Amino acid sequence: MFKKVLGQSIEKAAPAPSSVNPALVESAGNVLHAVAEQLLQARGELSVFGSRLNRSLQREDWPLATRTLLDLVETSAELSTRVTPARHEAADHLLSRQAHSAVSDASAAAWKGSVSALLETGIPALLPADAAIAEQVRQAARQVEKSGLDETGEALERIHAFVTSCNGHGASIDARQALLLDVLRQLTANVAVLSEQASWAHGQVANIESLLAGPLSVDLLQAAIENLKDVAQRQGDIRKDRDSTRDSVEHMLQAFLSNLDTVASATSQYHARIGDYAEQLASVLTAEQLQPILAGVRRDTAAVEVQARTAREQVSAARSELHEAQARVRALEAKLEEMSELAREDPLTKSLNRRGMMEALGREMNRSKRYRIPLCIALLDIDNFKQLNDRLGHQAGDNALVHLVTVIKATLRQMDVIARFGGEEFLLLLPSTSLDDAMLAVTRIQRELTRSIFMHEHQRVLVTFSAGAALVDGNESQDGLIQRVDAALYRAKREGKNRVVAADCAAAELAA
Ligand code: GH3
Ligand code: MG
Ligand code: MG
Repeated sequence: MFKKVLGQSIEKAAPAPSSVNPALVESAGNVLHAVAEQLLQARGELSVFGSRLNRSLQREDWPLATRTLLDLVETSAELSTRVTPARHEAADHLLSRQAHSAVSDASAAAWKGSVSALLETGIPALLPADAAIAEQVRQAARQVEKSGLDETGEALERIHAFVTSCNGHGASIDARQALLLDVLRQLTANVAVLSEQASWAHGQVANIESLLAGPLSVDLLQAAIENLKDVAQRQGDIRKDRDSTRDSVEHMLQAFLSNLDTVASATSQYHARIGDYAEQLASVLTAEQLQPILAGVRRDTAAVEVQARTAREQVSAARSELHEAQARVRALEAKLEEMSELAREDPLTKSLNRRGMMEALGREMNRSKRYRIPLCIALLDIDNFKQLNDRLGHQAGDNALVHLVTVIKATLRQMDVIARFGGEEFLLLLPSTSLDDAMLAVTRIQRELTRSIFMHEHQRVLVTFSAGAALVDGNESQDGLIQRVDAALYRAKREGKNRVVAADCAAAELAA
């Protein structure tokens, strides 16, 4: 339709060839040549119009030139409608990109806020001790805050610098912490030696050592601090008592010494007087002359006697006071020692607790290695203890644990050690014992348990246990030993409970 309208208007407007002005034709021809040239240089469909137009101009075929131009107009119109959807798409794309960039602007701003809050408040809270790093992180926070979303370069550089410092700082914190722990270990190792009473310091040292052995946690440290504070205060009180007792003994001795001095000087005065009287006696002629001399001797002798008696009494008082004070000091020291024992004792069963057990095990292992004496250990675990608790209550369970320990203590030798390994598990240390004898000892305890049976509310309750027994190898670690005996206990459980199983020997385990 477009072609039709244009075609009509051109045809209508086209004058008759005879009346055409040649100059006008020439300049129109030049214009059309130029158009044809441009079209030829264009790519695709348009170049076809270029060659058609050229041809028509060479032939001076004006109708062909007119048709070519009309076709060109029509094709251009078509091309433009074909291009439009693409343009729409591009516009849509542009719009969606703007929307998208609005969304990403919002999330980038949120990121920026979080990063700057992290830098401004979060990280400095973790780095209170290092002013330089704290300042560095504050600067990075300020840079993040003030930089636009599209100009993060400098902020990123600052953050990067901060991260690098943090890495170095972290390593130095680790190194410092390791050093501090080492110092603490050295200190605890020396406290017992430095302490005037190694025995009472022992409990606290063991406490700190067991704390240092495991992973540190704030709760554990807090508990240890509370424990130490409590023990320190109680021991402080006891020591004050003991020191004041020592002071009073010291004062008394001083008083006695000064009295002794008085007695001594009185005695030497007495000797001098007696010497005088002896001289006077030499020149005595009459009984009357003798009288006052004898009276003097009597008087002076009586005075010395009184002083000697007083001194004797003081000495005996001091002696008995000293004995009493010594007894008091001994009692106080025993109390200190007992408190230290408590740190190693399980309060329910009064057997050693785990800490005490590890100490005793270390000690016995050393002794066994040094003197080449066999050492056995046995790990006991009450059978179906959960059921007993569920059936009779937790208190009955507690009583059963106490009963078991009582039976074990009554059955084993004085030198054997019993420790609560955890819950309803107990570890026995049997020095100078072969594996066979250890198995027999544990079986004896099992037999004894069936004889002196546990009573709960007038009810007989059979308590049994399974056990693993192991001969200690001089070269194995405590952990390796415990693992070995635990594996044997596990076998005893699997094989039907209420029995004792010997552990594989350490060498066999190494070879396996
Ligand atoms: P198994 O024969 O296999 O050893 O079974 P078990 O029920 O004895 O063993 P389990 O490990 O399932 O349960 C142990 C129970 O011991 C669970 C726990 O409540 C109880 N227990 C641990 N410590 C104590 C304690 O101090 N007092 C009491 N009454 N019960 C305890
Ligand atoms: Mg158990
Ligand atoms: Mg059990």
